[in-house]
Amino acid sequence: MNGILREYFGSVGIEYFSVLKYSDCREINERLRLSLDFEPKSVVVFLVPYYAGEAVNLSRYAASLDYHIILREIAEGLAERLKEKHPTAHFVGYGDHSPIDEVGAALISGLGIRGDNGLIINPEYGSYVFIGDLLTDIDPEILGAISPAPPARCYHCGACKRACPTGILRGEGADCLSAVTQRKGDLTSEEKALMQKYNTAWGCDMCQSVCPYNKAPKLTPVSFFYRERIPELTLDIIKGMTRVEFSRRAFAWRGRKTVERNLEILAENN
Ligand code: SF4
Ligand code: SF4
Repeated sequence: MNGILREYFGSVGIEYFSVLKYSDCREINERLRLSLDFEPKSVVVFLVPYYAGEAVNLSRYAASLDYHIILREIAEGLAERLKEKHPTAHFVGYGDHSPIDEVGAALISGLGIRGDNGLIINPEYGSYVFIGDLLTDIDPEILGAISPAPPARCYHCGACKRACPTGILRGEGADCLSAVTQRKGDLTSEEKALMQKYNTAWGCDMCQSVCPYNKAPKLTPVSFFYRERIPELTLDIIKGMTRVEFSRRAFAWRGRKTVERNLEILAENN
């Protein structure tokens, strides 16, 4: 593995990373790749663990500041470091919406196994990880690209399927509860009742909470996830946020109104 990568990732608390040839990854958005001003040859894929403790009425990931901020910072920092040695190289970082299947790339890199809940599961951090990737035109051999390996699977205990509130993991429900909390407009009384039952104003972690691999997840060493953490949302907290403060939350993209509506639904229950 390339020494710059090892040193850089060590300095930002990232233990699980890998390099693949672009051609070994499954491309899922050709248009996005064609919009780049270079032809990607290598993909640096890395896991960013985010478990910083429990959360009360929102998904654990959303208790911290918006993870896109730290994924971007890490990718940009790596690009800067590589540019010192490869000044003519090009780079672009992603964390969601990449031209490649990011989960697939992390799996064939051996960074975790595939859970029946659709998530990658890392041996130390469980499924509480985000996947980031940096595409570059540096030759894969220079970066120490590995050969992809077939992904391993979880042991199919079925707990995530049994616990799924809407049944979508069992092929029954129409929508994921997480998506329900993110939907604008009116919700049905059944959807509101599910949010109240599972006490969620944003997201759903049920298929992760019950997974045996998540029994004792290691706390993230990435300090970003402990900053301005809000493990329990209230209407007062949301209403008291400035525009800038709100814009830095993981749920900001959906707008204040939706989060406030969700908290009002929970308040009706109380
Ligand atoms: S997030 Fe919740 S509703 Fe969605 S699949 Fe997992 S358990 Fe089911
Ligand atoms: S809960 Fe069981 S079936 Fe679901 S991802 Fe975890 S190990 Fe696999």
